[in-house]
Amino acid sequence: VDLVGLDSLVANTAYLRAQQSNRTELRMHRVSLTLPKLKKSSPPWEAVEKTYESLCEQQPIGRRLFQQFLLASGPQSVAAAKFLEELSDWSFAEDVTKEIAKQRILSKFCQPQSQTFLSYLTGENIERCKALSDKNFDEAAMERLGEATTEFLKGKPFLEYLKSPHFYRFLQWKECEKQKITDKYFYEFRTLGRGGFGEVCAVQVKHTGHMYACKKLEKKRLKKKSGERLALLEKQILEKVNSLFIVNLAYAYESKTHLCLVMNLMSGGDLRFHIYELGKRGIRMERVVYYTAQILTGICHLHAMDIVYRDMKPENVLLDGRGQCRLSDLGLAVELPNGKTICQRAGTTGYMAPELLRQQYYRTSVDWWALGCSIYEMVAARLPFKDFREKVQSAEVTRRTLEDECRFEDKRFDPPTKDIIIHLLKKKAAHRLGKGDDVRNHPFFKNINFLRLEAGLVEPPWVPKPDVVYAKDIDELRDHSEVKYIQLDTKDEKFFKEFSTGAVSTQWQREMIDSGVFDELILSRINTQTPPDTDC
Ligand code: ADP
Ligand code: MG
Ligand code: MG
Repeated sequence: VDLVGLDSLVANTAYLRAQQSNRTELRMHRVSLTLPKLKKSSPPWEAVEKTYESLCEQQPIGRRLFQQFLLASGPQSVAAAKFLEELSDWSFAEDVTKEIAKQRILSKFCQPQSQTFLSYLTGENIERCKALSDKNFDEAAMERLGEATTEFLKGKPFLEYLKSPHFYRFLQWKECEKQKITDKYFYEFRTLGRGGFGEVCAVQVKHTGHMYACKKLEKKRLKKKSGERLALLEKQILEKVNSLFIVNLAYAYESKTHLCLVMNLMSGGDLRFHIYELGKRGIRMERVVYYTAQILTGICHLHAMDIVYRDMKPENVLLDGRGQCRLSDLGLAVELPNGKTICQRAGTTGYMAPELLRQQYYRTSVDWWALGCSIYEMVAARLPFKDFREKVQSAEVTRRTLEDECRFEDKRFDPPTKDIIIHLLKKKAAHRLGKGDDVRNHPFFKNINFLRLEAGLVEPPWVPKPDVVYAKDIDELRDHSEVKYIQLDTKDEKFFKEFSTGAVSTQWQREMIDSGVFDELILSRINTQTPPDTDC
């Protein structure tokens, strides 16, 4: 028997089964979760940010509970809750559906004889409703109704919510969110990849069945290579971003030997693998446009937070099980607030922009250059200034990058693709696409509806096969090296504590909702709970 082969077969089977298990199976195997009774002496109320935006809009569980509170309140609140729901559907709808959604909203919420009439409307808004001429109801008018509704909810309904059993339930969830995370919180599955400080493996949360990827940083290896500061920076940037197109951090915790970053599981492999390893070289054009649109959205999200990615390349773009992509490996990302610039050389040979190679000061322009290189590579399966597997000194790649013009010999480049690459590969950062104008407006994206794409509503053009493991064999990923002569001291321990902050609020709350655990616990009779002490 080939025992090594058997080993990897078993590992793959367990990993695939965990990913495919359906809700009923999960419910049977789940370790159940109970919400803590809150102590009167130290109510978590103190630690909670008390704004309407944070409690009722931004936090996923808070939003749900506030909605449920409204639906259980008077007719005005019920109408407001239903209206907000339909307004959100309307904003993402397209063409005919959008017009139908608008008509529905007008007749349900804007006619005084309707049971769900928004009776809190005043002044200009009520005049509009009375006239009820559809032409008056453009996008802006709809948005104003939304704002008026928020204003109404921020008043009495919000104050009453803070005294309600629903809010007590919210505080219980917050208490649960603060729990200490250890490796006992997860089941562990096979290794998926290897990084500079340790492996990345698949894990599953015992309470919810949710699958994640866990990047493990070996404590002693971190110390030996002085990687602590960079690891903390990566973690801090990861927890700040909250985008569908960047891997998001869900937990940061420590085990005896490792620091662990738990992120979205990307089971579809990286784009480099899809360009080179699957027979035909390159990626079909429809997919290239779709991935580029998602990558672009991820990059814009980082830039809007003054973060420069600095490691844009297909290898760092990972696909999830549905075929959507996210940027990963933010180890080189830097925050440059208030227009700050930097001249440090960082990145990967073949993707580095001229200004970076010349060690001039730069900001976000280097990411646009690297995006140009990546689009080129997805189409042609080589880089603009470096052939696939070409043995060439990095000094020569630098020379070509600074002096040569990009050539398009491959027949797969169509005019808009050539054009967007040419404009992203302008040698002068000031002339490059992305500098002033919005890259999203380029004809390359003519078939992309960015509003829907950004909401995750555009179906991927290609879906990974559910029975394939898009990762190297576990034997190839094994590492036998050992870190010797490194002792961890109290200073290290202090740093590890600082790193291990546990669950990341938004991601954790979303996990509770998506897995169905939130809905199961809501059924256990909210109204029997004692209301909270409110005037603390
Ligand atoms: P490093 O910064 O040390 O290079 P990476 O973040 O690039 O580490 O992760 C190493 C490898 O682990 C990646 O090349 C990829 O194969 C795999 N990997 C990383 N993150 C994920 C993820 N979220 N889902 C699945 N695989 C991942
Ligand atoms: Mg990496
Ligand atoms: Mg890295």
